Amino acid sequence: MTRFIFITGGVVSSLGKGLSAASLAALLQARGFKVRLRKFDPYLNVDPGTMSPYQHGEVYVTDDGAETDLDLGHYERYTGVVTRRSDSVTTGRIYQAVIQRERRGEYLGATVQVIPHVTDAIKEFIQADIGDEDFVLVEIGGTVGDIESLPFVEAIRQLGNDVGRERAMYVHLTLVPYIPSAGEIKTKPTQHSVKELLGLGIQPDILLCRCDRVIPEGAKKKIALFCNLREERVILAQDVDTIYQVPRAYHDEGFDAQVCAHFGIPAHEPDLGRWSEIVSRVRRPEGIVNIAVVGKYTHLLDAYKSLGEALTHGGIANNVGVKLDWIDSEIFEQPDAVQQLESVHGILVPGGFGERGSEGKIAAACFAREKRVPYFGICFGMQMAVIEAARHLAGLSGAGTTEFGPCADPVVGLMTEWTRGNQIERRNAAGDLGGTMRLGAYHATLEPGSRVAEIYGSTEISERHRHRYEVNINYKAQLEKAGLRFSGMSPDGLLPEIVEIPDHPWFIGVQYHPELKSKPFEPHPLFTSFIKAAVEQSRLV
Ligand code: GLN
Repeated sequence: MTRFIFITGGVVSSLGKGLSAASLAALLQARGFKVRLRKFDPYLNVDPGTMSPYQHGEVYVTDDGAETDLDLGHYERYTGVVTRRSDSVTTGRIYQAVIQRERRGEYLGATVQVIPHVTDAIKEFIQADIGDEDFVLVEIGGTVGDIESLPFVEAIRQLGNDVGRERAMYVHLTLVPYIPSAGEIKTKPTQHSVKELLGLGIQPDILLCRCDRVIPEGAKKKIALFCNLREERVILAQDVDTIYQVPRAYHDEGFDAQVCAHFGIPAHEPDLGRWSEIVSRVRRPEGIVNIAVVGKYTHLLDAYKSLGEALTHGGIANNVGVKLDWIDSEIFEQPDAVQQLESVHGILVPGGFGERGSEGKIAAACFAREKRVPYFGICFGMQMAVIEAARHLAGLSGAGTTEFGPCADPVVGLMTEWTRGNQIERRNAAGDLGGTMRLGAYHATLEPGSRVAEIYGSTEISERHRHRYEVNINYKAQLEKAGLRFSGMSPDGLLPEIVEIPDHPWFIGVQYHPELKSKPFEPHPLFTSFIKAAVEQSRLV
């Protein structure tokens, strides 16, 4: 019997609903339950794929090729449960489904309305594609009271009635701010937020209160009294020094025990051993390495959420702290500016789009290659490294990517056809932008004896992709002669997936996004190996 836990947020956004949901799921999992996590986003885009990273942060890609909210990354990292397209739904997607149904005449002459048609569609999505999960945790994006999220709040209210309260629970995350001038914390925003939720017909079963300090007993009592809850259902979510401490901190406050109590499930102690191990490694590193991440959206770290986490995981695997230096690549377009990379132990150029700053990324790749600093190119970062090698090793001075327009030597070009399993997928330059990249998990075959084959410990891998351009196979022979090794290819041998420079301490470019699959308790082998190389580099400089 699947139970539903709905997580809403109040007072302000950015309180960490995604991490809260992921942490609760991890705690339930540690008690032996099977979980699934879902995110509902109230915006009208069908998915975040066409949104600027400044608007939305990272686009997290699932194995089955959906472009989704970055919270799905937290879900996977905390639970190891592989996310799917059905775990991420936006208002745009709901409306698309409703309107398509209307056009097909499936509403049989009815006037199509938010209630019941849109709310029914939301309820269908919540309950779709569920197997033997004990718990499905559904996070509602936005803040309660927003116009956009009203249909979602209404739908979860209805669903609580449909399945019965013994199978549904409402968790509301709020802020309890400390006001320095008054010298005390304030409960009023939480009271108002719960009032808002009550006005929409939902009495929260648990309040999760974000606070930068311990909430005094008196204040907790007050929140319980005004919000119509028992005191033990008011849970403190105090700020912690590492996000991997959140599950343990919640457990210590009784969060998962209260959830079990709500559902009448006998509560025995969960095994949180692996979380304690991760936290102690993060807190007590044996050294520090400095990694320069040379990208474009460096002012908004949410744009590189999984990447930052995967680098931390690489540090956990090597027992070192990873200090990240986020550098806007444009600055390397000034003469000699790359020299500031002199003191770093590794350079990473992440995924990206568009011409701005690309020459700076090429300069960073050139610096890494020439100065023998470990280099990790991910997607766009691989493409820039290939252009650099083409220009400076193979002598193709006009090498570039057709992403920025025509060029003399298109060593990176638009992909118009590729195979997925037994099927051919086709695109053309004039098609829709949304959802049309090469998306999701694809297999690659690694060359035996290559560095990557050694790192993976295998010659068959599957990784997640999100790109429209590819390294042009027609230049393969020429680039290989110049010193680049094409050590990973698509199984049909047509799409370059990995390049490496054998005569270099660590220089690898991958066309896919390994960061999406890294987990704290299962760091991705490429990140483990890259950080290991950085540790070795740190002994040299
Ligand atoms: N802009 C490049 C492409 O579309 C790289 C994309 C990426 O880095 N995710 O191929």
